[in-house]
Amino acid sequence: MGYFCAGVPMLHAGAVHHNSNLMKNTFSTLALFLIWSGLAAQITTDDIDLLICKEQEAHQRNFTGIPVLTNPLTEDFDLKYYRFEWYIDPAVYQITGKATVYFQTLTDNFSEIHFDFSSQLGIDSIRYHGQPVTGTQSGDYLLTVPLPSALPAGRLDSLTIAYSGAPPSSGFGSFIQSQHNGTPSLWTLSEPYGAQDWWPAKNGLDDKIDSLDIFVTTPAQYRAAGNGLLVQEYASGEHMTYHWHHRYPIAPYLVAISVTNFVQYTDMVPLSNGVQLPMLNYVYPENLTQAQNGTADLVQVLQFYDSLFVSYPFYEEKYGHAQFGWGGGMEHQTMSYVINFGWGLLAHELAHQWFGDMVTCGSWQHIWLNEGFATYLEGLTRERFQSPATWYSWKANNLATATSQPSGSVMVDDTTSVNRIFSSRLTYSKGAYLLHMLRWKLGDEDFFQGVRDYLADRRFKYARTPDLKAHLEAASGQDLTGFFADWFQGQGYPSYQVQWEQNSRNKVFVQIDQTTSNNSVDFFEMPVPLVLRGAEKDSLIRLDHAFNGELFEVPAGFAVDTILFDPDLWLLSKNNTVAHSDIVGTREPAFGADAALYPNPAGDFVRIQWKGLSDQLTGWQLFNGLGQVVGSGEVNGNQQEISLSGLPSGSYFLRLITRSSEQLPLHFVKK
Ligand SMILES: [Zn+2]
Repeated sequence: MGYFCAGVPMLHAGAVHHNSNLMKNTFSTLALFLIWSGLAAQITTDDIDLLICKEQEAHQRNFTGIPVLTNPLTEDFDLKYYRFEWYIDPAVYQITGKATVYFQTLTDNFSEIHFDFSSQLGIDSIRYHGQPVTGTQSGDYLLTVPLPSALPAGRLDSLTIAYSGAPPSSGFGSFIQSQHNGTPSLWTLSEPYGAQDWWPAKNGLDDKIDSLDIFVTTPAQYRAAGNGLLVQEYASGEHMTYHWHHRYPIAPYLVAISVTNFVQYTDMVPLSNGVQLPMLNYVYPENLTQAQNGTADLVQVLQFYDSLFVSYPFYEEKYGHAQFGWGGGMEHQTMSYVINFGWGLLAHELAHQWFGDMVTCGSWQHIWLNEGFATYLEGLTRERFQSPATWYSWKANNLATATSQPSGSVMVDDTTSVNRIFSSRLTYSKGAYLLHMLRWKLGDEDFFQGVRDYLADRRFKYARTPDLKAHLEAASGQDLTGFFADWFQGQGYPSYQVQWEQNSRNKVFVQIDQTTSNNSVDFFEMPVPLVLRGAEKDSLIRLDHAFNGELFEVPAGFAVDTILFDPDLWLLSKNNTVAHSDIVGTREPAFGADAALYPNPAGDFVRIQWKGLSDQLTGWQLFNGLGQVVGSGEVNGNQQEISLSGLPSGSYFLRLITRSSEQLPLHFVKK
């Protein structure tokens, strides 16, 4: 899902279907300008700003009293197949139809079946093996159907539920009746909890429907969009019926229909596996030209994703778009619903076919596996197809959004709040930056291999963050436990303070410290990119920053004028400083022929060894970074172990005291 914030409140779900002027009231002139002025084909960063709002706006209501986790009553069966037969007149806020459900029992003595289903819809009949049975609706969202006799585990069975009414509309507007250019339109958008508003479902993230058929009958002037392949359309009297057929597993929230006076056209997309994939577009007649321009541009993006990861997941059927009036886009499986045809929105929703649809987050806590990836893949299209400045702007915008507040984790800490689940700052921008940082940390080869392995492993299933972590670790050989603890569960970001000094042409000393914006993370262990810039050349270096006060000796070989901190924006950080400082220079360690100090960095002790000095040595002194003496002692033999326990971490200097010569202090750091 991607959405626009045009500076006005968006859908107020409870009121939507009473307001026939929805479109006029909901979208500002700014959004309309962007959509219809032709700018959609000429992408600027403006449309990035719109896609990912600067701040989360209170445009969706929070949920109260709606089951947000898997309903335990629905865990005793496996959804196999649905046949939906709906009558929709987009001029009327109403659904009439029936759902035939094929299910497999998972427990013995299966005597009743439960669905998450709005009690605002009336049950017209329930038929089981051709016989009527009686269901009961209770609470807001529970339908219970007792079976005439109990079933054993493993039994495949079915029943048909006929129902009708005006559905409630939740979240972003799960069932919306609206209009465009004076023509009625009606669409559904169930993410995250809205499937139960308009069909008897399992509303959790643990059971994909293996396949389905959708039949939508509507007055003849309209067309109906659906999931999968349109296998038939036929007239009966004043009505048309559209039959969609989908043979891939699908999460319930990705089932969708949209009905209005669409015009249609198809772009063909050659895939890497040799398939000519149809990209089927259902658009408003008044926007046909803009749509054709936008989807033509998307052909290369689909080919790019198809080659970057694994083949387009639903290549035996189609990809496509259906235009709708909600202020953004929604990645309904095989057919994204979009308000316009801008590059960013189309690239984002298309990416969801892999990240969200083929592999679906297994908990709303882990929604970044959908939205972080879709956001980042849109960024990758900027890197691949657009100017370096556009790619830089994409990174800068997401970085600014993600760091606009000092706290907040990518992991969703309150799944009852749709605002929190779909936080543009945390789920989209910070989620995308997690992926960007993993790419930097692991390198392109290991990062993309790990993601491909993750997709292959979780294909047509659900996934959680540990699934991604395991595949990235296997591909790279790196332990990412600390990374995910800091960046997924932890909050905030680091600010870096870099000090440097060049004492000789051959090397530069760099000291790096960091502070963190939120105390849930005391230190972000990251490879830090710096560029050494001089008249002769620029040199990109990468320093694995493991603790505060860490001093790096960097080979240079040229005169360095300045050091740039992360000029390519690999790291999620803010308020970084770089200072040329002779403090670092005075810390140049005197490791030479006479003495050696180790380990550096040190833990609870440091050991010093020397040769040729023994007859002159009298003792040692330990200084902290402020030059204060924090320890001293005598020496014996040719080595000494010095305890550091009780001392804070940071920079230290150890000076050997001799009778006749001044020894330079040896710099080291305590972890
Ligand atoms: Zn999205």
